Amino acid sequence: MKVLVAVKRVVDSGIKVRVKPEGIDLQGVKMTINPFCEIAVEEAVRLKEKKLIAEIVAVTIGPKQGAESLRHALALGADKAIHVTTEARIDQAVQPLDVANILAKLVERDNYNLVLMGKQSIDDDFNQTGQMLAGLLDWPQATFASNIQISDGIAQVVREIDGGLQTVKFKLPGVITCDLRLNQPRFASVPNIMKAKSKPLETIPLEKLGKLHNSIQITKNEAPAIRKGGAIVENVDVLLQKLRNEAKLF
Ligand code: AMP
Repeated sequence: MKVLVAVKRVVDSGIKVRVKPEGIDLQGVKMTINPFCEIAVEEAVRLKEKKLIAEIVAVTIGPKQGAESLRHALALGADKAIHVTTEARIDQAVQPLDVANILAKLVERDNYNLVLMGKQSIDDDFNQTGQMLAGLLDWPQATFASNIQISDGIAQVVREIDGGLQTVKFKLPGVITCDLRLNQPRFASVPNIMKAKSKPLETIPLEKLGKLHNSIQITKNEAPAIRKGGAIVENVDVLLQKLRNEAKLF
């Protein structure tokens, strides 16, 4: 069984970003693998360790530095990588339907049995790509996975939903998007980082698989309003007075 894991390179979540009208300023900013994608890679590696899958292929779509995220996935345990290259901004111009179209082409080309993805990219917060890919392939999907069991070609997935946990199952092939509590990704060891450098990495220019549609135009980007500082009040009476007179809550 072959698994495709989609990994996106994003601004590190610990960075305080500078927002310009044309988008986040990416100049000199620390980038990293999208955390939900790292969880997807870890899950693929765990399934391989349990001998439930035979091969893990990591894929990213993006500029040349995206190769760093692929090397990270290879160091965690992916066997091969595919870099679909484009110089377009992946937090703006490469949109979920574009990514889903390209992944669908790779699935058709290489016959994967399962696609594991992050539930969401932390840069654009779309939470759409997995759902669109499943639609394009006409495959079943399970989103927000917090547990995945595979047996006899059936995937059983526990999903995190508002009301609690929902368990679904479907016959593979299918698409699963990974949520935060699915696992805790391992650290890549130094020998594995070295080994990753010699694992196969195929590069394909995006134009060979499709084109960008720019179906959504971003008209403005703004930083969130600066929050006012909090205050410590002496007692409950003062608190009530402030809520009544200043916050005008009642
Ligand atoms: P989104 O729909 O943008 O929130 O992204 C959901 C998931 O789609 C991500 O966690 C990745 O697994 C995948 N994805 C989105 N963009 C890319 C990309 N440029 N390259 C590879 N995978 C991507």
